Amino acid sequence: SPATMINHLDDPVLIGRVAWTPEDGHSSGSAMSLRTALRTSSNRAAVRLLLHVGIARTVRYAKTMGIGDVPSVPSLALGSGEVTLQAMTAAYAAFANHGLVPRPTLIRRVEDRDGHVLYASQETPVRAIRDTTAFLMSTMLADVVNAGTGAGARRLGFTLQAAGKTGTTNDFNDAWFIGYTPKLVTGVWVGFDEPRMILPNGFAAEVAVPVWAKFMKVATRNDRPEWLEMPSGVVTVKVCRLSGLLATEACKNGEVINGATGQIDRRSTVYTEYFARGTEPTAYCEAHQTQGVRVAGLLGAEEKPPAPYVDLKAIAPPGDAAEHRIAPAPTGTSGTVELIENPSTAMNTTKKRGFWSKVFRWTVKDRPNQPEPQRPPPSPPSKKPSGR
Ligand SMILES: [Zn+2]
Repeated sequence: SPATMINHLDDPVLIGRVAWTPEDGHSSGSAMSLRTALRTSSNRAAVRLLLHVGIARTVRYAKTMGIGDVPSVPSLALGSGEVTLQAMTAAYAAFANHGLVPRPTLIRRVEDRDGHVLYASQETPVRAIRDTTAFLMSTMLADVVNAGTGAGARRLGFTLQAAGKTGTTNDFNDAWFIGYTPKLVTGVWVGFDEPRMILPNGFAAEVAVPVWAKFMKVATRNDRPEWLEMPSGVVTVKVCRLSGLLATEACKNGEVINGATGQIDRRSTVYTEYFARGTEPTAYCEAHQTQGVRVAGLLGAEEKPPAPYVDLKAIAPPGDAAEHRIAPAPTGTSGTVELIENPSTAMNTTKKRGFWSKVFRWTVKDRPNQPEPQRPPPSPPSKKPSGR
């Protein structure tokens, strides 16, 4: 679930006899929830999650989602596979479209002068994931846009509810952002035909997100504010952010050491989380049960009160623009050794790109208008994020 804690992030990942510590930008903390990991784009958490889920299973899912064949290596979690912008954008459409992957099509319909339909696209979307999974992913990816590495879109004035994910590859050769509203999915890739550095520190948050935001502001100008309907298989539960378990009274006023200042703050770590029915926690948080126990580390250094406009009231605030970067191939001199397969091998295959930058868009299949579900309606963004 989004509240699942990913632990042991400071330990090197052991693959056989090989130890590997993925580079992790500004994301800190030895444990974090999956929700926080996505928001801060934690490489270490992504690799842990991949190994937990299983590489073979992940590769199968990539194929089902239309991404194609990706390499069976641990660095797959950081994007070491080659994918087209079109395939990746279509895959993200599944998150906006109840788990169904649409087949991209250029021509939807051809009519003659009298309005007779001469041709209509017959492509039917393929189910890749459950609608509950798609919704849970979307609530996490919404944090990315509201308060994570995609928050630049908010600073540029994009206000509709949206979700998305950044991606930056080794040596700043590629910058990605795929983001969506319930109606429109847009993928942005920035890079060169022959791979080379876009610019120093060309993180996707700085390079790709602004392109996306500027395009989406125009493309969605006439769209009404709305968000995805919560599937009946999803339930909301108040949990503690430190443990991911059921919140107690003690969680509402816990002592937390601010990693940046060393000062002790008192604040609530309770927030409303979404779960697929049957996966919600049944145990109560014990992190706050004992008076005087101070919890540090789990929160990382950038914890502040949550931004006021976000959908989930108590998600953590913006971190730095930590990005997906693949750790340089270990050299052996730094205590690590070569991976089973060198991720750079996969990175360098079939680099064929037609344009300097490509922007694809298509509309997610319209759904019948439905009233808002019972969950608290997302308040429209009204303030700029507090982070950078
Ligand atoms: Zn707690």
